[in-house]
Amino acid sequence: MKKIYFTVGPSEPYPTIPKHLNSALKNDILSLNHRGGEFKKLFASTVSGLKKLLNIPQIYEVFFVSSALEAMERTIEGVVDKESFHIISGSFGSSWAKYASDLGKNAIKCHLTSIPDLSSHFQPGVVKLKDVPKEAELICLTQNDTSTGIWIPMDEIYALKKKNPEKLITIDVVSSVPYVEIDFSKIDITFFSVQKGFGLPAGLGVMIVSPKALAKAQSLVKKGKVIGSYHSLLNLSEKAKDNQTPETPNVLNIYLLDRVIKDMQKKGLAKIRKETDQKAKVLYDFFNFHPEYSVSVEKIEYRSPTTAVFNVNGKSQNLRDKLSKKGFIIGSGYGAKKDDQVRIANFPSHTLKDLQKMLDNI
Ligand SMILES: *Cc1c(COP(=O)(O)O)cnc(C)c1O
Repeated sequence: MKKIYFTVGPSEPYPTIPKHLNSALKNDILSLNHRGGEFKKLFASTVSGLKKLLNIPQIYEVFFVSSALEAMERTIEGVVDKESFHIISGSFGSSWAKYASDLGKNAIKCHLTSIPDLSSHFQPGVVKLKDVPKEAELICLTQNDTSTGIWIPMDEIYALKKKNPEKLITIDVVSSVPYVEIDFSKIDITFFSVQKGFGLPAGLGVMIVSPKALAKAQSLVKKGKVIGSYHSLLNLSEKAKDNQTPETPNVLNIYLLDRVIKDMQKKGLAKIRKETDQKAKVLYDFFNFHPEYSVSVEKIEYRSPTTAVFNVNGKSQNLRDKLSKKGFIIGSGYGAKKDDQVRIANFPSHTLKDLQKMLDNI
């Protein structure tokens, strides 16, 4: 039986992946020399495709790293001397703050959710009202925290940046890209990995970095600070200028990303977003009106359209087993919520038809 993965990552592959994997083999992508002209062409095509798809300003740079967690570390290392500020809406934001303190920074935490309870009893507008400590050099936000299904509206993030124009701001959009619409001119570093919304195999992270963030990295180096080694922001930038990466990269995944970006462009991101909204409505309505189950995130503004979390009162395993027998794989709750919640992805690779079939089986 063909299984359909509604898991929040890795998830269902984008429908064109089998075709692109075949053509990768046929075109010897697995043997491609990462210092050669053909790779440089692939690198340039992927970067310019991504810039077009997501509307990224030309002066921003795009770097390839190994994962989103690596991007968290590279961000802290690259632009924070002493102090970072973390608005935390779930476990991914929590981990990020921990990595900052592991790197010797003073990571100041501001929890929107209580952990491990992960409850979301906060009011709309709370993010933009947060007081950012004076010494903080960088504001870190998980725009869509996959553990809680909490979505922070971009307008609140822009408002926070507007109130703190001298600070750098960085967002984790791993499980909301490419759906989330970002005005990159207001964000200094944005990052994601590709096994969620892009429907690719895991093992590739993408960072989108502003000139201001790179200038900060430069100033740290001038002061004699260590900002990393082969994957420091400056080394990544140096190599990217020549359409290369410092290491031998995940060439296959860069190739697949290039192809899927082109597929998404052909379909149109506006259409993908509209379909995501339609599917999200079906999904949330189902659990909202269900006699036994309910939506986890209280306020509608903060409910993720791409990674939805539902309370199923101890029935998580039951429900997942039942669906699995029908070929539908959904996610358990995160951490302490494992048995009481399910998490369901709504990515571009998921069709309305399959979603409806899955829900019919609940
Ligand atoms: C999955 C996820 C990550 C981690 O991604 P990796 O590719 O495993 O590094 C980070 N942040 C969020 C919000 C995620 O959903």
